[in-house]
Amino acid sequence: MCRHAAWLGPARSLTTLISDPEHGLLRQSYAPRLQKYGTVNADGFGFGWYDGSRPVRYRRTVPVWADANLPGLAAAARSTCLIAAVRSATAGMPIEETATAPFADGPWLLSHNGRVGREAVRPLAADAESVCDSAWLAAAVFTRLRDGLPLADVLPAVVGAAAEGDPEARLNLLVTGGSHLAAVAWGDTLFTHLEEGVLVASEPLDDRPGWRAVPDRSLLLASPDGVSVTPID
Ligand code: GLN
Repeated sequence: MCRHAAWLGPARSLTTLISDPEHGLLRQSYAPRLQKYGTVNADGFGFGWYDGSRPVRYRRTVPVWADANLPGLAAAARSTCLIAAVRSATAGMPIEETATAPFADGPWLLSHNGRVGREAVRPLAADAESVCDSAWLAAAVFTRLRDGLPLADVLPAVVGAAAEGDPEARLNLLVTGGSHLAAVAWGDTLFTHLEEGVLVASEPLDDRPGWRAVPDRSLLLASPDGVSVTPID
């Protein structure tokens, strides 16, 4: 199970998610505290941020601690919306940049924490950039967003269809369009921390008070107006 995190609020640098907090994604890549599936997240990493309304991405297949350019890049990448993921590839999945989150389409960036049988997601999209289960799941979400459906409807619909095809699926998703965030808790942990904006993460990035667990099988929506959590039936 990979680990992912996002920030929505006043502009911050990507180090907010990676190296500033004691248990940021850098530490979680080799010593996650709540990970139930897999022990390290060393099969690659990816980050996304926004330059105005345009998403920018950086994906690698090396462990996050092994990229010597990363500290400088992460400190310089500042945005009101940030997303980051470290990967523990599911058995049988390729280790390649195109299989690494965040996946992108237009203004959208998406990360998946979990696994799903490909037979359950391939019918939900025409094509995907990688054979990886997460790439197919991302394609299913992007296809519907491109059709103009709202994110708050698309995520429960795709998760519901994927879980119907694979009842064992773990489908934690993190999606942003730059001005808002959405996340699904389905089979793995998810936490939020409200401050001058909102942090969303698979597990707390530090030991400050205020981290709240999002109940399993729910949808979190965050915008500058606030955060809501609703059950997914
Ligand atoms: N199944 C996805 C992959 O192989 C995500 C893995 C994960 O969450 N550990 O990359």
